[in-house]
Amino acid sequence: MAGEWQDQLINFVNSIERLKQYINLTPEEEKVLSETKTTWGTTPYFASLMDRDDPNCPIRRQVLPSLQEHENRFGMQDYLLWKENRTTEEQRPDTIARQYRDRVAFTVTQTCGIYCRHCFRKELVVDGDLKLDFNVDDGLQWIAEHPEVRDVLITGGDPFLLSDEQLEYLISKLRELPHIEMIRFGTRLPIVLPQRITPGLKKVLGKYHRVPIWVNTQCNHPNEITEETAKAVFDLLSCGVNVGNQAVLLKGINDDVDTFRELHQKLLRVRIKPYYLFYCEPAPGIDHFRTPVEKGAELIRDALRGHTTGLAQPMHVIATNIGKIPLMPDYYIIGKDDESYYLRNHKGQETSIPNMPE
Ligand SMILES: *Cc1c(COP(=O)(O)O)cnc(C)c1O
Ligand code: SF4
Repeated sequence: MAGEWQDQLINFVNSIERLKQYINLTPEEEKVLSETKTTWGTTPYFASLMDRDDPNCPIRRQVLPSLQEHENRFGMQDYLLWKENRTTEEQRPDTIARQYRDRVAFTVTQTCGIYCRHCFRKELVVDGDLKLDFNVDDGLQWIAEHPEVRDVLITGGDPFLLSDEQLEYLISKLRELPHIEMIRFGTRLPIVLPQRITPGLKKVLGKYHRVPIWVNTQCNHPNEITEETAKAVFDLLSCGVNVGNQAVLLKGINDDVDTFRELHQKLLRVRIKPYYLFYCEPAPGIDHFRTPVEKGAELIRDALRGHTTGLAQPMHVIATNIGKIPLMPDYYIIGKDDESYYLRNHKGQETSIPNMPE
């Protein structure tokens, strides 16, 4: 018998007919949808959070393809190959992306609970032009042969779309390796399919073990957070799984001070710790979502630091082929001399502390 979360997938909203149960399409939206070949869609649950009449609804814009996806002035071709270092000398199976010595990203599926229009893995996940071989056992074998890897980040697609049995297999295989100290999942399902956090999944994730599990979800707008989200997150936390957020800074969706602050406050209200805020990556066809590089740091300065709970503050980073690079506000260090270090706060007030020699 299919459970509630499988029903959500059976009724996946990826046709004009189904979409019309949730929103009134504009003629342009309907035209794009009927002509596009791209993969698109989301769960009925997430679709129900869209505004019926507003084409600029922040959830709607993440779900519905736009004509602007064909404009590509600033996106890099073959972005994912560059980004994930798939063309470097080290021999790795397709499932393993590596930028750091001690941790890797392990891609186990290309199926998602929403095909985000801003996805930086678009070439793989949404457009499907890039074909990879998702042989999980090859990936596990590679990790077993690399004792320097202590942290495995399981990603996709959305790894929580795997069955409980497949997830248990992955987790137990990784936990057998003495060098693995932590397992992370990157999954949007707590946001787009909170029904996935079932008692069965809790059993798989929840056993006490020396190797902890961390989940990072992706939530970009306060309207994505509901009572269902709160329950799913509480369930994860109560079985010992830590929950963080990796938001993407999206033009017209979360790049104004009020929305940005509300997003981060609301995440904490449902016990999700903001981890990263990602600059929208220069993947092809997503120019219309990208802000100037400075924007994220400005928002942290103007909306978060000093303005609300410190825990609400994510690290703003740009993910590149050589790793994630922080781009945080830099207004606070005014300068230093032999005696003093001069600092500024979010209100522009200045102070100094003694400058400590080596
Ligand atoms: C993002 C990423 C990681 C994890 O980075 P953290 O800063 O530790 O969260 C690891 N490997 C790859 C290839 C990544 O893209
Ligand atoms: S859930 Fe993640 S991998 Fe899937 S489309 Fe959205 S951003 Fe891309």
